[in-house]
Amino acid sequence: MRPYILAETNWRTLKDAPIELAVLPWGAIEAHNLHMPFGTDNIETERIAAESAGMAFEKGARLIVLPVIPFGVNTGQLDIRVNINMNPSTQFAILKDVADVLNRHKISRLLILNGHGGNDFKQMIRELGTLYPEMFICACNWFQSVDNSEFFDKGGGHADEMETSLMLYLAPEFVLPLKEAGKGLAKKFRVKTLNEKWAWAERKWSKVTTDTGIGDPSLATHAKGEKYFRAVVSKVSELMLDLSKADIDDMYA
Ligand SMILES: [Zn+2]
Repeated sequence: MRPYILAETNWRTLKDAPIELAVLPWGAIEAHNLHMPFGTDNIETERIAAESAGMAFEKGARLIVLPVIPFGVNTGQLDIRVNINMNPSTQFAILKDVADVLNRHKISRLLILNGHGGNDFKQMIRELGTLYPEMFICACNWFQSVDNSEFFDKGGGHADEMETSLMLYLAPEFVLPLKEAGKGLAKKFRVKTLNEKWAWAERKWSKVTTDTGIGDPSLATHAKGEKYFRAVVSKVSELMLDLSKADIDDMYA
């Protein structure tokens, strides 16, 4: 039993224990090219949350990891079979209920650990801040915590070399042999400006890819996944530790 994982711990351990920070992992359930499980984002995010929290706990952080929310925003993938979409407004309702409970129990710091590109909590955090001004709520995308190009030859963003490597390390039993994977080729917008970072439109996933993947997974290995996992965990645990110890009434210097 890990005392910093809510689903594993118990009332005896928790009822008087100090909790400085709550961590809410948030994933998605969606097709990941042909070779990886629908639960890829949940598996990755849950493991990164638990491992990072363990490392922060060892260094003195008093934190608790909540269960992963398994549904992400997949509005661009409604025609992809059994991809479950959770609308942003539903996510906000869930987030508000979680924050409300934490606030009642004087757990003032909340970190949303996000593992799915379609999830975006920024505006929700702004609105939550008006409802719970005594809380400090923040979010991070673990997949942006380190420079992925230092670990992988090919980029992409979905079921790519990074995600495949990570899954070969974390849950190889759920990954089909790489020869079964699609190439992860993705089309770009014909409106060229939409391919630049400053303009944005949602992509209709089934029109952009043929195998649901974006990014060539063929060079993925278990060893690359392990190295990347260690780097991400080190970075995320640093954030958790710093947030646990931060004085939320004095955040600026
Ligand atoms: Zn993913």
